[in-house]
Amino acid sequence: AILVSRRVKSRRKWNRVVGVLRELEEECSTPVGRLRQVVDAMAVEMHAGLASEGGSKLKMLLTFIDNLPSGSEKGTYYALHLDSTDFKVLRVQLGGKRSTISEPNVEQQPIPQHLMTSTSEDLFDFVASSLKQFVEREGNDSELQLVKRRDLGFTFSFPVKQMSASSGILIKWTKGFAIKDMVGKDVVGCLQQAMTKRGLDMRVAALVNDTVGTLALEHYHDEDTVAAVIIGTGTNACYVERADAIIKSQGLLKSSGAMVVNIEWGNFWSSHLPRTSYDIDLDADSPNPNDQARGFEKMISGMYLGDIVRRGAAYCALMLISVVTTSGKQILFIRYAIGSGMDETSVMADMHEDDSPDLREVAKILEDTLEISDIPLKVRKLIVKVCDVVTRRAARLAAAGIVGILKKIGRDGSSGITSGRAKTGDESSSKMRTVVAIEGGLYIRYSNFREYLNEAVAEILGAEMAPHVILRVSEDGSGIGAAILAASHS
Ligand code: BGC
Ligand code: MG
Repeated sequence: AILVSRRVKSRRKWNRVVGVLRELEEECSTPVGRLRQVVDAMAVEMHAGLASEGGSKLKMLLTFIDNLPSGSEKGTYYALHLDSTDFKVLRVQLGGKRSTISEPNVEQQPIPQHLMTSTSEDLFDFVASSLKQFVEREGNDSELQLVKRRDLGFTFSFPVKQMSASSGILIKWTKGFAIKDMVGKDVVGCLQQAMTKRGLDMRVAALVNDTVGTLALEHYHDEDTVAAVIIGTGTNACYVERADAIIKSQGLLKSSGAMVVNIEWGNFWSSHLPRTSYDIDLDADSPNPNDQARGFEKMISGMYLGDIVRRGAAYCALMLISVVTTSGKQILFIRYAIGSGMDETSVMADMHEDDSPDLREVAKILEDTLEISDIPLKVRKLIVKVCDVVTRRAARLAAAGIVGILKKIGRDGSSGITSGRAKTGDESSSKMRTVVAIEGGLYIRYSNFREYLNEAVAEILGAEMAPHVILRVSEDGSGIGAAILAASHS
């Protein structure tokens, strides 16, 4: 029931659209000089967030994980991973000596929509009952019968203020969740209660952010891993910090050690971020409007990318063709019409990566998702271009964030004042082999995104430093890593 007038109306109009697109490209541009400013700003904000509580938009949350798995962990451990749209239960067998974790037993289910805005009791009741079914399905597997106490790592992909490695309160929801009574509550307490109610005998040995789970798994495999990044529905990073650099909690920590810090970089904001009118509109329409609220996340993560594209594409396309539903709505103006959220960004990736000469895939997607047919090739090309501009900016900003972390810990090859670790002139620590683990659908499944990010990291670091930094894809790390942390904290 959609009327499409598909004539590109005039050359003059077309030229104007080309102008608009050029402007968008210009506004989104991220030359390396600008990225370096973002790198510096990230390192400075990290410093400020460690210096005092509330000292920065970056929360720099303590995780109380002060040693990462060594590889010697042994036994059967469980994990539960609660994220934006689904949750996973899994079991791993650890054999010690950095054993290969052979085929973890994973079960994944979507979270029923209504539970995302219900009560904490409803949500955790659902989670605990699924966990119980998982355990019950072990049946009489004789080996598993021998597991005396079931220790669980709980990956909770939202900002939490931790009291210990196995407890913490939810600071706020992100990514579409909105269970009000949960904010300020101990997440583990809620889970433990629900498990008790269901008669499930399990103990939460570790509560971890998804970034921390990923770091743990990749560190298990490779001790040079110093940071982990998630780029999926949401985005965030964590890294290993020296305890004596965490000034805000001095006295609380052993000064000789280290601790994993959850940056919560979705909150990062800097005047150096390239912002367009589409970002400003997106922000104004978001549930948390304000210049800076989750500014970095809004430019990078899968929750928002599709919508930036829609805004850019809508603006251009509607100058050329009019696409009107029978209800009179301009379809590209319908919010989130071009996917948003975790897997929907794949729609964008599929359009972007269509390499057929007539952009058949783009046409098909527009038809399937928006019910618009016969979009002229010219316009299809234009939409692909908008995808490219928005994705490239996102990937390059994430790259700058990563190098910002490396700079903070003195692993970026510069011996800047913010490094704290490498003494001036001391090249040795900055030239150490450094691994950063990256997880999340945008990085794993969107190859243009991944290539842009990898390329930008190398560009910022420069030819001499780049070979020392390895970006490593991690799949399912957040969950498996939590099970390993349960082992090392049981
Ligand atoms: C959350 C982080 C999480 C990230 C990636 C963000 O929205 O605030 O805690 O690590 O998404 O899942
Ligand atoms: Mg995730």
